Amino acid sequence: MQITSDFDTGNIIVENLDGTTAQLAIRPDTNNTFYQWFYFRASGDAGESRRFTITNAGGASYPFAWPEYDVLASYDETHWFRLPTRYEDGQLIFEHQATQATASYAFFVPYTAAQRESLLKTCEAAGITRRTLGHSYQQRPIEAVVFGDESRPVKKVWVIARQHAGEPMAEYAADGLIRVLLATEDTSAQSLLQKATVYVVPNINPDGSTLGNLRANAAGVDLNRAWDNPTEECPEISAVLNAIEETGVDFFIDLHGDEHRPYIWIVPPGVEISPEARRLVDYFEIELAKRNPEVQPPPVSVAGVAADHLGMAVNYIAATYGCPAWTPELPFKATSNPQDGDDSLLATGCMRFGRSCVEALDTIIEVE
Ligand SMILES: [Zn+2]
Repeated sequence: MQITSDFDTGNIIVENLDGTTAQLAIRPDTNNTFYQWFYFRASGDAGESRRFTITNAGGASYPFAWPEYDVLASYDETHWFRLPTRYEDGQLIFEHQATQATASYAFFVPYTAAQRESLLKTCEAAGITRRTLGHSYQQRPIEAVVFGDESRPVKKVWVIARQHAGEPMAEYAADGLIRVLLATEDTSAQSLLQKATVYVVPNINPDGSTLGNLRANAAGVDLNRAWDNPTEECPEISAVLNAIEETGVDFFIDLHGDEHRPYIWIVPPGVEISPEARRLVDYFEIELAKRNPEVQPPPVSVAGVAADHLGMAVNYIAATYGCPAWTPELPFKATSNPQDGDDSLLATGCMRFGRSCVEALDTIIEVE
């Protein structure tokens, strides 16, 4: 068996390989100590039984991600399925009876730069404005697509995704949202675009994504702690903030993934906003919950950062522009719903959630 992660958004270190038994470690983020995202490919003989142990799982950024979690695998990078996974003594262990010679294994269904380019090209072909807002630390473009007529005095909606590079579900949600906005026959999308211009940044951290990081950009910055003080080390934020300053913003969505909980929850602004903005924040969550059985109320306590941290986009934008803002958190762990059954929030489920954001926005935004 051979193992490689030398491709876009790949991450694994092979510590020891003995036949079909591999001892692996997850590589920390570039210039930071975060780690949890992994994605690698193994090639050998069809029919062989493989055993993988990620030896440094216990030291990952969110060790509570591992209990009740099952690794994803695929033979074709399109259809992904779960493998029974154990978390024992700080190690993540999974076995695979591979029916084909080559298979990929990942923390979640990867979303690659090639997929992004294909989607943005589809937008261009449909006559949608594709705009470079600035460049990342490693000079990759920070790109937005613009839906609706910008010259009309209507509401401005901004959607960004994947500040945290190892949260590809966020980019799948943005992908689904973009595709419904492209659908000229979709009544919700067309209704929304009468009332609003929608700016979507499907990936604000292309460096971290390509490098296989969990959270940080190439300079090691956690972008979602830096909105109140963007330095030269996080030009990704300045690129988007400058564009928002130019257009204004009335509604803001920042898409993320949650390692811990097996459901979707929506982080509201933790800063003071007007009663009307707060009403709209709650209204949007209710509309999302109607459409997605996986949406649950926010957990009572969330470990880590203070709820009002102004370095977080949801708080910075709400505080600066006084507008409703949300951080939907989509799970890494398997979910189920009556429509799609088990594992309802893999790639297509996350895309469906993105579509539902368009419907919910259309519902809460009133005609002027
Ligand atoms: Zn995140």
